[in-house]
Amino acid sequence: MIKLNKELIKKQNLTKKDIANIKKLHVKKNKLFNNIKKWMNKNDLKKIKESAKLIEELEFKLQDAWKFERNSKMHTHWLYNPACTCPKLDNEERFYTGQRIYSKDCIVHGDTIEIKKEEVVKEKDLEISDKTKKINQKELEEKAEILSSKIIKAKSSREIDDLKLSEKIKKAKELLKS
Ligand SMILES: [Zn+2]
Repeated sequence: MIKLNKELIKKQNLTKKDIANIKKLHVKKNKLFNNIKKWMNKNDLKKIKESAKLIEELEFKLQDAWKFERNSKMHTHWLYNPACTCPKLDNEERFYTGQRIYSKDCIVHGDTIEIKKEEVVKEKDLEISDKTKKINQKELEEKAEILSSKIIKAKSSREIDDLKLSEKIKKAKELLKS
């Protein structure tokens, strides 16, 4: 049996349809909690981890059904996830404040899987930065090569000019002599 706060139903001016909808969502939540227990028996960490998102979605839908604004600060069911080992009293004291105390070891809310993901991302980032470093080095080397070949070209063209000039001078001297 699902008991709902009668005062609140009056206050929110809920219809029978609204109430039926809320009860349906509670049934869904109970089913989800039963499934989580099954996932725990199977040690299905992925599903257990995903359950946090599913519960949150149900909490938002419950807020919709109760005609409240969607606000995760008001969520409480996340703490009663059967797989959750976060401190109960410390969190209950902080209900509706927006503060949550997650236990690091909690399979649902702890950071074990998240850290692994971050590590993978960090490794990828390192690979990428290594690649860009290599590319940058290559670019620099290429630029240096182009620059040095330009300098050589400039030098040789100046030498040619010098040659031409000395030839001209020679010719001019010869002309003067004759
Ligand atoms: Zn937890």
